[in-house]
Amino acid sequence: MSDIIHLLPDSVANQIAAGEVVQRPASAVKELLENAIDAGAKQIKLIIKDAGRTLIQVIDDGCGMSDTDARLCFERHATSKIRSAQDLFVIRTMGFRGEALASIAAVAQVELKTKMRDNELGTSIVIEGSEIKEQSVCRCNNGTSIAVKNLFFNIPARRSFLKSNSIELKHIEEEFFRVALIHTDVAFSFYSNDKLIYQLESSNLHQRITGLFGNNYKQRLHPVEEQTEQVKIRGYVCKPEFSKKTRGEQYMFVNNRFIKNFYFNNAIEKAYADLLPEKTYPSFFINMEVDSSRIDVNIHPTKTEVKFLDEVIIYAVLRAAVKRTLGQYSLATEFEFDTVEGMDLNPAPAPKGYIPPAPTITVNTNFNPFENTSYKKATAYSEPPYDKGNKWENFFEISNEKAEVSTYTVESNMEQETLFETETTESDTTTHNTSTTIQVLNRYIVSTISSGLLVVDQQRAHERILYERFISHSGKECISQQIMFPIQCSFSAADAEIISEIMPELKDMGFEMNPLGNTVFVITAIPAEINDGEVQNMLDEMVEDYKNSLMQKFNDKEQSIALSMAKQLAVKKGTKLKQEEMQNIIAQLFSCKIPNTSPFGKKTMIIMKDNDLTEKFK
Ligand code: ADP
Ligand code: MG
Repeated sequence: MSDIIHLLPDSVANQIAAGEVVQRPASAVKELLENAIDAGAKQIKLIIKDAGRTLIQVIDDGCGMSDTDARLCFERHATSKIRSAQDLFVIRTMGFRGEALASIAAVAQVELKTKMRDNELGTSIVIEGSEIKEQSVCRCNNGTSIAVKNLFFNIPARRSFLKSNSIELKHIEEEFFRVALIHTDVAFSFYSNDKLIYQLESSNLHQRITGLFGNNYKQRLHPVEEQTEQVKIRGYVCKPEFSKKTRGEQYMFVNNRFIKNFYFNNAIEKAYADLLPEKTYPSFFINMEVDSSRIDVNIHPTKTEVKFLDEVIIYAVLRAAVKRTLGQYSLATEFEFDTVEGMDLNPAPAPKGYIPPAPTITVNTNFNPFENTSYKKATAYSEPPYDKGNKWENFFEISNEKAEVSTYTVESNMEQETLFETETTESDTTTHNTSTTIQVLNRYIVSTISSGLLVVDQQRAHERILYERFISHSGKECISQQIMFPIQCSFSAADAEIISEIMPELKDMGFEMNPLGNTVFVITAIPAEINDGEVQNMLDEMVEDYKNSLMQKFNDKEQSIALSMAKQLAVKKGTKLKQEEMQNIIAQLFSCKIPNTSPFGKKTMIIMKDNDLTEKFK
């Protein structure tokens, strides 16, 4: 009997290998994108037609190939990335098997154009079903362009197994995400059927995530960071309330390579514990840096599975890191929504020819936030604003909300109290008055605004109001009140020195004072905002604050004094406020120059917009 074993021709061997490497258009996309990354590209363009059936093209500005390499890259086991088996243990590139291009060229019509930076001319190669059809010298840009046309043209069975265009495109998009998410220093553009669907500038992970998943992810992400001997973890996890019904948004990378590792995914899910609504999964974007000699990436042809020597330790570190992040931010999670600060200042341009309608503003001309204001001394929060401005009017549609809120208060008062522990002020409960603001926990003022709900931190807001008032006093005529009986304030010798030093600024803000000997000062007038009984205490504290490093950091006497006075005079948390006081705070806050932070840089308010609320109720 004659021998029956023979070697398969390369083209057949390549086709068999292709079965493993190129299962669908998305697999070719992955290989081409990874090659571009390995070539050091800083700009990568992905062009898809008919979900990859007719065209998959990747254009990069990487190192390019010499004419010999351009020919060799289509050979099986042709790679520039490893030379010996030893190299397998220290892989830092995406590919290394040298199979991808050979496999793709076995099952498609491929056109390659490539040029190295130092060469004047590049190489063009056309290859179909592993057969070189054309090779020539050509003019082209630095880098490489590979166009894969009519994938599986020579394996009709394979072609008919492809799913609908939308499903294949989804797979492509997924591969694109996996590469783009971790290579944030590379700019990407992605065209599908001549339409630009993603344009990503080189940036950081946070911006990349929002570039891919949308701007509303800005509010969803918490950073995770941890470093131990075995692993360095960096990335973001999503707040529990934004968890998904599937595990679709779980991105884990090791040494910048996307991996699937159910064990580690479980570590993260465990960290969320009971924070997750039932049957939902957290979204996360985590990169782990691990010594490459302690992992084995060579266990699966498409290389998404990786073995770790230190997996038990890494599991524990990962879980603890995510847990800590969630703990740290859990309070913020309750309240953190879009702030004025966080508003998108660069909205997408309007479509061509679009004529924006004139804005309509509903302003209740009858509403006067200052009516009923009692200009009582010692209730600093009921002072008239120094600059009424009208910014807040655009923000508020108080009148419209009045009716609704009052019915709510009457009809569901019980529920409201038990559910939210709200504090309604006297006037509300006795008269069922129209209430536009409520105080929560004796600390926050809650009000409805045209775009949703406004929550103001009473103390911080008032600090801002007072601070701007004192700062604006200086150099101008200020509201000062003469005191009937002059007050004598005495200080230690050192403190008296400081008082003398800041006396000009104190005078600017409404104090009239003169030294009496070395350590005593006689005060004859004080700012309108303060009580004569509190003058000594105020000045003592002001001196303390001035000495305090926090204040000195500003190195500005006027600012230091204004800060100290604002801090001391501001209504404190825990103080119950009247309806009119709350309304005054809100109105005055919105006439401030910088309403959204306290003078100490803390957030004064949060705004829950319509869509934030909708999202919460999902
Ligand atoms: P591998 O990436 O595993 O080495 P491939 O078949 O994907 O195998 O690529 C073979 C070789 O072709 C690579 O090692 C690289 O030298 C070269 N190559 C492929 N794509 C590019 C590209 N976009 N730019 C420069 N060189 C490339
Ligand atoms: Mg490759």
